[in-house]
Amino acid sequence: MSEYEASPLSRVDIREIANFFRQQCKLIDAKFFPVVEFLEFVMPQLDPHFVWESISRFEMGSKHGLAYPDDKLIKIREDVYEGAVKGNGRDRFTIAHEIGHYFLHKKERVSFARTMGLAEKLPAFRNPEWQADAFAGELLAPPHIIKDMTVFEVVRFCGISQQAARKQLKSCGN
Ligand SMILES: [Zn+2]
Repeated sequence: MSEYEASPLSRVDIREIANFFRQQCKLIDAKFFPVVEFLEFVMPQLDPHFVWESISRFEMGSKHGLAYPDDKLIKIREDVYEGAVKGNGRDRFTIAHEIGHYFLHKKERVSFARTMGLAEKLPAFRNPEWQADAFAGELLAPPHIIKDMTVFEVVRFCGISQQAARKQLKSCGN
């Protein structure tokens, strides 16, 4: 989706949005955010038209997840969903990433950057993929939870991959 450009959002903006959702679930201080339950039970409450589908590997191919905010739909590849249910960090992050697209990238907030020749030099804070990754990091491992943790504690308590934990710890400073 990098040929698209989104309305600018800083990490702090995205942190506030993610914390709003944690608050809605009364999970502001929870170390482990139950992202699968959020997808299945909370999102339909927040948005009565929301649906999500688990799609076979055959149909989804290499895509792990897809979000269609204007159609109120998120598609998650079957094995990714199953992995997330089992607590796999990478799969949990994928679901949170698609939830990020869902809430941040309705049509009016995203435009086609390629036509404007901006695709190469798109700054991170306007890049929908950066924004969705930042949302996933902030939802699953926000700074107020992880600030005094080691990488391994973040992995263990927040249920994200080591790579995502390192990234998230680095971004705590902003
Ligand atoms: Zn994405």
